[in-house]
Amino acid sequence: MTELTKYLAATFCVASLSFNTMNATDNFNYTVDNFADIEVLRYKVPGFEDLSLNQKRLIYYLTEAALNGRDIYWDQNGKYNLQLRGMLEDAYTSFSGDKNTPEYKAFEKYLKQVWFGNGIHHHYSTDKFIPEFTREYLEILIPAEKRPDNFNELCEVIFNPKVMAKRVNQAAGDDLVATSAVNFYEGLTQKEVEDFYAQRKDTTDLTPVSHGLNTRLVKRNGIIEEQVYKVGGLYSPAIEKIVANLEKASEYAENDAQKKIIEALIKYYRTGDLHDFDTYSILWTDDTASQVDFINGFIESYGDPLGMTGSWESIVNFKNQEASHRTELLSDNAQWFEDRSPVDPRFRKPVVKGVSAKVITAAILAGDSYPSTPIGINLPNADWIRAAHGSKSVTIENITQAYDAASHGNGFNEEFVIDEPTRKLLDDYLFITDNLHTDLHECLGHGSGRLLPGVDPDAMKAHGSTLEETRADLFALYYLADPKLIELGLLDNPEAYKAEYYKYILNGLMTQLVRIEPGKDIEEAHMRNRQLIAAWAFEHGKKDNVIEIVEVNGKHFIKINDYEKLRGLFGELLAEIQRIKSEGDYDAGAALVEQYAVKVDPEIHKEVLDRYSRLTIAPYRGFVNPVYSPVYNENGEISNVTISYTEDYPTQMLRYSRDYSPLTK
Ligand code: ZN
Repeated sequence: MTELTKYLAATFCVASLSFNTMNATDNFNYTVDNFADIEVLRYKVPGFEDLSLNQKRLIYYLTEAALNGRDIYWDQNGKYNLQLRGMLEDAYTSFSGDKNTPEYKAFEKYLKQVWFGNGIHHHYSTDKFIPEFTREYLEILIPAEKRPDNFNELCEVIFNPKVMAKRVNQAAGDDLVATSAVNFYEGLTQKEVEDFYAQRKDTTDLTPVSHGLNTRLVKRNGIIEEQVYKVGGLYSPAIEKIVANLEKASEYAENDAQKKIIEALIKYYRTGDLHDFDTYSILWTDDTASQVDFINGFIESYGDPLGMTGSWESIVNFKNQEASHRTELLSDNAQWFEDRSPVDPRFRKPVVKGVSAKVITAAILAGDSYPSTPIGINLPNADWIRAAHGSKSVTIENITQAYDAASHGNGFNEEFVIDEPTRKLLDDYLFITDNLHTDLHECLGHGSGRLLPGVDPDAMKAHGSTLEETRADLFALYYLADPKLIELGLLDNPEAYKAEYYKYILNGLMTQLVRIEPGKDIEEAHMRNRQLIAAWAFEHGKKDNVIEIVEVNGKHFIKINDYEKLRGLFGELLAEIQRIKSEGDYDAGAALVEQYAVKVDPEIHKEVLDRYSRLTIAPYRGFVNPVYSPVYNENGEISNVTISYTEDYPTQMLRYSRDYSPLTK
C-alpha cells in the first residue's frame, strides 16, 4: 500500500495498458540496448532548460548526491558484488582478443545483466544469473597476474548455482535470513534477527521508528553487532560524498522549508538516528510548495526477506507544471462533472471535492530505482506519519511517456489494431487520452457519487474493488468524450477520445489476456473491471452493431462502428454500477462480475497469446540517465547545467563505476 509503486512485470503492463506512443513525429531515440530479458531505454527531461539557474544548480548537486550512493546499493545486494563488478569491468575494458566469439558475447551479456541487477541477481526474480561462459574462459579474460587473491571464491559465486542462489528468499519453511544472499545479515539465523528486533519494539509507542531500516546485523563470537549506515559507520565514504553534495544543494534550496528538509536529511546521515529520519520524513511530506523534490536514502524494504532494512535509492525530480495544471483544472471543475453525470440524481454528491494528482518529471534515477524504475512515488512508508501528515503520491510522466514511446514500433499495434486509420488515431491521441483517462479516474471518478443513507460501504464484499474500479473507469470513459474537455483546453480534437475507446475495448476483450496463463480465470480487480466494461458494452451494443469482432485471415480484430453509441453504453453502465453501489445491491453487483469479468474465452485467449509471443517484446525494461554537465564561471560557480541524452548503457555503467565509486576506491 505504502510503497513506491514498482513497475511490476514492466512490459506486460505497458504493452497491454498503454501500449501506444505519443507523436509519431517524435524522433528521440528511446531504445538504448537489448540483452537477455531486458530492454534498456532512455527518458527525456522536458522542461529542464526552462528551470531557473538556481533550480538547475540544486538539481545538479542532488543528482551528484544520488549517483554517489550507487555502491551502497550494490553492496547491500550481496557482499561480493562490488569486487565482482570491478573484476568483470576490468576484464571487459582490457580484453583485446576476439570480441565476436560466442564466449565473449556470453560474457558481455552477463556483465550487462549484472549491471542491470546492481549485482549478480536478477532485479525482479532475485535469482542468480547463470553465466553462459565457462570459468576457463574467464581465466582467459583475466590473466593470472590480475586475479584477486580470492579468485577461487569469486568463481564459486559466479559459477556454482548453489552458492548465493537467491538474493531474497521468501519460501515458507526456509530460514529466510540464512538462505538469502542479500547483505543485510551475517552469521545470524532468522530467529535471532526476529528476537533482536522484537526486544527493541515498544508496542505502546504511537510514533515508532522503523527499526532496522538503516542497519546491517552481524554476529561474531556470539555477539550481535549493529552496523549503522551513517557518517563514521557502515558505508561512510559514500555517505560522506552524499552529504557533501546535499550541503551544496542546500545553498540553492528554493525556499526555507526545502533548506530545512535537506538539513534534516544531512543530520540523519550523520547521526544514523531513526528519529532524525522521521523528522526529515515529516518535513518532506509537508513540503508541497517546492518545484524541485527528491528522495535520497534507505527507503523500501523489499530487498530484505524480513522487510526491515531499506535499500538505498534516490530519485530527483521537479513538478511538471503543465500536467499538474491538467489535474488541477479537472479538480476545480469537479462539481460541474458531478452535476451532469449520467447517474440517478439521488446518487450524485451535492458537494464534491476533486483530488489534484501531482505529475513530476524525473531528472535522475539511482540505487534501487535504477535502471529498473517505478512510475510513481507514494511515500513516506511510516504508517503513523501517513496518518498524521498524509503522503505524497505522484506519477512520473516522463518515465511513462518513454515506456509508451519505446513501445511504438514494437509491432504490437500492427498485430492487434484493425487498420491503418485506427493505428494513426492511436499514434496521434492515445498518449494524451490515456493520461486524461487516468486523471479523470483518479481526480474525479473515485470521488464521485454517494451511498444512500444506511448503506454499508462494504456491501459489495469481495467484489468491492472490482466494482469501484469499474465505476471510476466508466466515469472517466464517459467524460473523455465530453465537449467540456475541449472547452477546458485539455483536448484539441473532438475525435481524440476514440483513441482511448478503441484501446480500452481492445485491451478489455483481448490483449490484456497476455497476462493470464492458459486455463486460468481473471483474478486481479483492474483486469476484471476492464473486461467487465468491454464485454458488457460488446454484448449490449450488439443490437446496434456498436462493436464487432471481425476475422481477417484467421485473426480476430476489434472493430468499433459507432463511438457515440459506445459512449452512451458507458453512461448506461455507469448509472447501473452507481445504483448498485448506492443501494448496496450485492446480488446485482456479483451477477455483473460473474457474468462479464471472470471467465476467459479459451480460443481468443490462445490466439492472443500466440500472436503476442511472436512479437519480441522484452519482459523487463529500465533506463539509462541523461548526463548533466555543469558549466563554471571564472569564480568557480555553476553558471549553467547542460543535459545530453547520447550516452549508451556500457559507457554509463563504466563512467559511474569510475566517477561515483566511493566504496571501492
Ligand atoms: Zn482506481
